[in-house]
Amino acid sequence: MCRHAAWLGPVRPVSWLVSEPEHGLLRQSYAPRMQRHGTVNADGFGVGWYDETLGRPVRYRRTVPLWTDANLPGLAAAARSACLMAAVRSATVGMPIEETATAPFTDGSRLLSHNGRVRRGAVRAIAGEPESLCDSAWLASAVFARLGAGASLGDALTAVVRHAAVEDPPARLNLLVVGAAELAAVAWGDTLFTHLDEGVLVASEPLDDRPGWRAVPDRTLLLASPDGVLVTPID
Ligand code: GLN
Repeated sequence: MCRHAAWLGPVRPVSWLVSEPEHGLLRQSYAPRMQRHGTVNADGFGVGWYDETLGRPVRYRRTVPLWTDANLPGLAAAARSACLMAAVRSATVGMPIEETATAPFTDGSRLLSHNGRVRRGAVRAIAGEPESLCDSAWLASAVFARLGAGASLGDALTAVVRHAAVEDPPARLNLLVVGAAELAAVAWGDTLFTHLDEGVLVASEPLDDRPGWRAVPDRTLLLASPDGVLVTPID
């Protein structure tokens, strides 16, 4: 399983998810605390943020371990937004290691990350145009295809997870999506946590040891807005 995290709230730098918290994605890239599949996340990383001026998200993805990128600390301190995402990758066996296989994926208006694995054939019928042969890229394209057809973010995620889980019951389908002023996540087969104070933090595992981190139940959809968080079962 890879690890991912996102923020929706007052403007913060990307380092808010990566290097500022004691167990941010930097630490989780080599010493995750709750990872059930894989031990390190050294097959690449990606960060993304919603740029208000451009009116779209911006990404930076690499195939090297996060801790080896000497340019990231400066970029992560300078890139600031009310909406952030970061992900570190432990590639599933057989999946390509390339930037296009690395989260965040985008449709131009949202960013998406996946923790888990799915048989690609399970989403072939609903996938759009994946940018890589990586299973996560196929899942992302399926969600983006639903969104492109007019579905709400919650409906798109629920429909894709239901479809994939029917076709591939052991699939692990933790998904995380951010847009201009929205954040949504699915817990399906892996851990997911939230922390609410001035904004909403969502992460595969807590980014620090502050009180207030809450586990999101498995097989649920989490929808967050600047006003709060709603968690509903996916059946
Ligand atoms: N299956 C995805 C990949 O290969 C995600 C892997 C993971 O969650 N560890 O990148």
